[in-house]
Amino acid sequence: MNLIRLEEVLKAEPSFRLKQAKQAVFVDLLDNWDKATNFSMQLRSELNENCPLSIDAEFFQSIKEDSLKALITLSDGLKIETVLLRHSDGRNTVCLSSQVGCPMGCLFCATGKMGFKRNLTVEEIIEQAVLFARLLKKEDKQINNLVFMGMGEPFLNYDNVLGAIKFLNNKNNLNIGARHISISTIGIIEGIKKLANQSLQINLAISLHAPSNELRVRIIPANKKRPIEKIIDAINYYLDKTGRRVMIEYIMIKDFNDSVEHARQLAELLKQIERPLYFVNLISFNSTGEFKQSDSVKIKQFREILIRQKIETTLRYRFGQDIKAACGQLAVNE
Ligand code: SAH
Ligand code: SF4
Repeated sequence: MNLIRLEEVLKAEPSFRLKQAKQAVFVDLLDNWDKATNFSMQLRSELNENCPLSIDAEFFQSIKEDSLKALITLSDGLKIETVLLRHSDGRNTVCLSSQVGCPMGCLFCATGKMGFKRNLTVEEIIEQAVLFARLLKKEDKQINNLVFMGMGEPFLNYDNVLGAIKFLNNKNNLNIGARHISISTIGIIEGIKKLANQSLQINLAISLHAPSNELRVRIIPANKKRPIEKIIDAINYYLDKTGRRVMIEYIMIKDFNDSVEHARQLAELLKQIERPLYFVNLISFNSTGEFKQSDSVKIKQFREILIRQKIETTLRYRFGQDIKAACGQLAVNE
């Protein structure tokens, strides 16, 4: 899909055409201008030539049919992944990528291991949602939630991520409510603070994953420059400004961060968050390399300790492990 030349192609047309064209792409979700029957044949073919709607994607369906991964080839040949998660209640979440690869190099994350290629443009981010919106429309369904939990660190591509969010949130486009859009960050302080100052109702998730700097730096190199205390400061700033709840993400890695002592340390650490406007999401780890998934008994025990300390704690359900579409498994081998 490439709409950069849309206005140029429609320059000689009456002004309402542009609105019609955008409606065709983002509301009617057409995948070919030939289907825009309110346009002349000539205009349709001009649009097809200059503003193609096709998205070059290959799909991988998980056995349980709860997730569908798409491998999209971008115009420069680089590839990104995006995932549709189908919930049992009929709701649909799309997990978007913000970068090709990721420069943060977290040791447990497949995307981090592939290195960083480049930031995605606004259109390349939007395209991922459009791809699944088209597919769901055929089933009379729609995207209910968007999460920036695919490849990349969204706050290192702040302007394009926010640009795409504002676009997708717009009533004239996909109309996805801000409250149903979430950004997950490894703890980019500047991004958290910037978001705090925007009057947007989107959700923020922080990938904490360890209760001390000593432990965190062993899996997240970026923790050197952005230690936990700075992240907590940024969270407090965000809570002050927005009053919106923050999700603290914590992946459970076997014999690394999953002991009773770690749970107690985490509970202690979280007391530094000034308002009780947060909850912890314990994520079952998708094994990569030397890191393994915690036993479910350990996860239960960890959760109970947090709950006893009055910290709301949820467990994240695992999707699409068989097609490597689960968190931290998105990587393109090239
Ligand atoms: N860069 C951002 C967003 C993308 S990662 C971030 O790190 O927050 C989305 C989530 O998946 C993060 O919480 C990330 O830490 C987590 N994740 C990465 N690798 C994982 C793995 N192997 N198993 C489970 N979760 C993982
Ligand atoms: Fe990047 Fe997030 Fe993976 Fe870390 S966990 S390498 S920040 S995508």
